[in-house]
Amino acid sequence: MQVTFEQMWTDLAPVGRSATTGGYHRQPFTAAEREAHAWFLEECARRDLRVESDGFGNVIAWWDAGSGPAVLTGSHLDSVREGGAYDGPLGVVSALAAVDVLRDRGFVPSRPIGVGVFAEEEGSRFPLACLGSRLASGRLDWASARELRDREGVAFGDVVEGGTSDLLRDVDVYVELHVEQGRDLVDRGAAVGVASAIWPHGRYRFDMTGAADHAGTTRMEDRRDPMLTYAMTVLAANKQARVSGQRATFGRVDVDPGSTNGIPSTVTAWMDARASDEPALEALVGDVTRLATERAQRDGTMVAVIAESATPEVRFDAALARRLAGADRPVIPTAAGHDAGILQTAGIPTAMLFVRNPTGVSHSPEEHAETADCLAGVEALADVLADLAGGS
Ligand SMILES: [Zn+2]
Repeated sequence: MQVTFEQMWTDLAPVGRSATTGGYHRQPFTAAEREAHAWFLEECARRDLRVESDGFGNVIAWWDAGSGPAVLTGSHLDSVREGGAYDGPLGVVSALAAVDVLRDRGFVPSRPIGVGVFAEEEGSRFPLACLGSRLASGRLDWASARELRDREGVAFGDVVEGGTSDLLRDVDVYVELHVEQGRDLVDRGAAVGVASAIWPHGRYRFDMTGAADHAGTTRMEDRRDPMLTYAMTVLAANKQARVSGQRATFGRVDVDPGSTNGIPSTVTAWMDARASDEPALEALVGDVTRLATERAQRDGTMVAVIAESATPEVRFDAALARRLAGADRPVIPTAAGHDAGILQTAGIPTAMLFVRNPTGVSHSPEEHAETADCLAGVEALADVLADLAGGS
């Protein structure tokens, strides 16, 4: 029995969704994310796709056909905390639906087609985005990955088997379909677009250290309060990003000891920064670091900035992008990172299809795509796979 796109979407929708907010919590290797994976494996079994996995939590379901290097599509099933339904799962569900479309058309590929699900794309549990695809493509080694720890101190090495991966050994092209995480396609009136490039981006941890003291007895002028340094740093990051046309966000902060009646001893905050090119990103991070340090001198605190991750600009394969765009699909850059960027950097020619998101909002329950646009995305992906996998 064939399961339609709509039915798959309905089946997957409740997994990891908060009953109160509607936000998704599919952190890697938690019960909700594992349930989503189990759903994926069931759908693969239903389609007689051969499932292959590696020791990092990555999976590819193969439509074995013909011979020669494979065409890979897919995306991820994990989410940020309080994420939306579409970021990741849309690419996976669309890939399965595209296989159905091709089979309905009677298409027989001349080479294998894989539907991949990469682990920990969002970096919402372990502090490195695209962890699964970095490991599978050899962009990151196991020795460094196994030591990455989540907020509870659990090491990545404790939740996966590890080792090496040869999942991508036969892949020579990757196409990822993804919900758009902005309003470019809305403004252009297009249901589906093609990615040209991913902005360089990184995550920077700011450790601000002062002196814990009593909120009542410590005179204002005697304080060494890292919260002030933090507050000014957030404002400085916002201003610097605005004036330079780039992006800077503080979305996570830990305060220690975190008592209402005490001046904190340390504030640790994470800045996500993205820019249209690498010198602009360097300048942005440099400016924010300088302003934080200047402020720290006035506050009597200390600031240390550590780049937890930095991803250079990725330009997708231009010929492939033109082929996907055809005559009428817009080609647009994105400021969001993706597994597709990792694979392109690893030397696998890669392209992305974006599906219009009417809210333009992502990493939030507001993220959305209309069913008609999703189905247009499935058709576009099926056409691309048919084109790349030759066959009849
Ligand atoms: Zn994504």
